[in-house]
Amino acid sequence: MAELRALAERQPELSAAASLQIELVDALRRIQTRIATASVTLTAEEIAARLSSGRPLVTFDRLPIDWNEARLLFRKIADVLRRHEAVDADGVARLHDVGRSAGLPDLARRWFEQGSSDPSVDMLDEVIAWSMRPFLVRSADILQQRGVFGAWKRGVCPVCGGEPDFACITSTGERLLICSRCQTRWPTEPYACPFCGEGDKRRITSFATPDGTYRVTACQSCRRYLKTLDGRRAGRAVMPALDSIATLPLDAVVMQRGFTNG
Ligand SMILES: [Zn+2]
Ligand SMILES: [Zn+2]
Repeated sequence: MAELRALAERQPELSAAASLQIELVDALRRIQTRIATASVTLTAEEIAARLSSGRPLVTFDRLPIDWNEARLLFRKIADVLRRHEAVDADGVARLHDVGRSAGLPDLARRWFEQGSSDPSVDMLDEVIAWSMRPFLVRSADILQQRGVFGAWKRGVCPVCGGEPDFACITSTGERLLICSRCQTRWPTEPYACPFCGEGDKRRITSFATPDGTYRVTACQSCRRYLKTLDGRRAGRAVMPALDSIATLPLDAVVMQRGFTNG
């Protein structure tokens, strides 16, 4: 949070995005302290069997979701988006209707299993993603302590099956992908595109910021890209909530070249 505030002061053009992010992270943290005991239960055998057959560990039914808390968070996130004008008055009213409706768990399941809930409701996927995040992150924390993801070679998250939306290079030079949904980190090939599996270096375009802290790898085959923090240059570990905002100017550059965000 302090780093996000510092970023907003250093780069005023990012202050609107940073203050939105601060409010979202804050709403999340309040709930995370309350749900600290809920977690997913999987035996060591189940973990080994699922990982070795290429199946992510958590299914929607396994997620310990407290729907009262989830609905409360859903309302808060919708209100934050409205305050920052990411949705209009009609949009937030529709979101609140969905947040109260009996259909919310089914929509959340569709988002989890198929990547999208109901495209006719503006920002619904984003609000569901933030509302599910405390439960996903909680389960992922526990599983990450127990699971060994070294042999996992897929581009999707070994815990929840979500796509990565950021990557980092550790101090030892290892490249890790970071799940957009549960923030699990798992090792990957240095260049391969996680979205389509392209492994030919000549098909991957790479840009870096002048100081080398951030790098973008863009895939010529699927036209998607991924941002990476080079921890060796940055002298710190990745902080996805901060780094995703700090790299917004990079997104603009890469999107202009016709790539879509991963
Ligand atoms: Zn995940
Ligand atoms: Zn690709």
